Amino acid sequence: MSNIKVRFAPSPTGFMHIGNTRTAVFNWLLAKKLGGKFLLRIDDTDVLRSKKEYEDAIRDILVWLGLNWDEEARQSARVKRYDEVVAELKKKGRIYACYETAEELEVMRKKLMTQGRPPIYDRGALKLSKEDIARYEAEGRKPHYRFKLEDGVIEWNDMVRGKTRYNAANLADPVIIREDGSYLYHLPSVIDDFDFGITHIIRGEDHVTNTAAQIQMFEALGGKVPEFAHLPLLTGKEGKLSKRLGSLGVRELRAEGVESLAICSFLAKLGTSEAIEPFYSLDELAKSLDLSKLGRAQPKFDEEELKLFNHKFVRGMPYALVKDRVDIDERFWEAVKGNINTVDEVKEWERICRQEIEPIVEDASLDAKAAELLPEEPWDENTYNVWINEIKQNTDKKGKELFHPLRKALTAQENGPELKLLLPLIGREKAYKRLKGIKA
Ligand code: GLU
Repeated sequence: MSNIKVRFAPSPTGFMHIGNTRTAVFNWLLAKKLGGKFLLRIDDTDVLRSKKEYEDAIRDILVWLGLNWDEEARQSARVKRYDEVVAELKKKGRIYACYETAEELEVMRKKLMTQGRPPIYDRGALKLSKEDIARYEAEGRKPHYRFKLEDGVIEWNDMVRGKTRYNAANLADPVIIREDGSYLYHLPSVIDDFDFGITHIIRGEDHVTNTAAQIQMFEALGGKVPEFAHLPLLTGKEGKLSKRLGSLGVRELRAEGVESLAICSFLAKLGTSEAIEPFYSLDELAKSLDLSKLGRAQPKFDEEELKLFNHKFVRGMPYALVKDRVDIDERFWEAVKGNINTVDEVKEWERICRQEIEPIVEDASLDAKAAELLPEEPWDENTYNVWINEIKQNTDKKGKELFHPLRKALTAQENGPELKLLLPLIGREKAYKRLKGIKA
């Protein structure tokens, strides 16, 4: 068993959208490919915005996607552990109290900006005297806390971006504890990654600067720094980040008949040098994973493209993948799958073949003759050819004049699966009546 472990760490402050689903997919696939473990971590330190409803919905979507997890953790249950680490890091001088109010910080930020300097916190809190602190405390000010970055270059070999470097001097010491004592994301995330033995972190490139600071946190904890892969963020098709995209819910896509494996196939290949092709198993998709094939450009995500891809996906789906969801046998599925856009649409063909329909009579005399020429059962896929030859010999119809009226009478549809495949599914009794213009 490898010691590889990855995690997906959603904040339960909203539903799964296409962006965080992509992060989950990549992490899961990497674990699968390397024979490692996948941890689901609920990042619920923001008590006000975290909701059980969101958490349940996230789990539900992960299960639906097939991204099962081996372990789970919850940040709100680990606060004691975070407090212990903070106490230690305070002793080591890596965490310090700050008393600036949000307004004061904003004034400082603006001042630096007008001077053309980067808005980096000036560490004023480190220069406070005991008296200053006593005065602030007496005023009722509560401290917030920052992690003190050490000078120097922070460097890592990103699995997507390659060598990535930051000069710590260009980064602000991140705030890790708010005035109300609650934790911000940065440090708990590192403590968890350290405690749970996370070896690889794949996440969006909006976290790149966090990574620089977090690498120093890993080092401060005395832990091994994991491997990082930062995925370029998706953009809308117009080329700019769209609000709608960020919130495009996977629940909605699911309700519209987009297959879970189609979503995974699509997201895993979007923005890579490989073609987007249907994968009918996550294992196969995992085998094909190669992070070095991801480009640095932000890939365009187009919902319509995903839906078109889903049509292609459905039309190639093996029966084994749908059999528990549909009420038809393999022969039926194979006959109709080429003519549907979502698995649910199979019901329409079930209705046409099995329930009563009103036939559309275009050529009554042809239909009547065709009815009389129907072969006796049992029927199979050759029945149709035998029958059509009989009709051709007994009428002067051919081509569209022959096939179109038969299709309309048998299915009441303009188009559809090959009649050769449908005929045995409809059966002789219904076919005979429909050709006679009778509801059947
Ligand atoms: N909860 C964080 C987020 O959703 C996790 C980021 C990370 O993967 O470290 O952005």
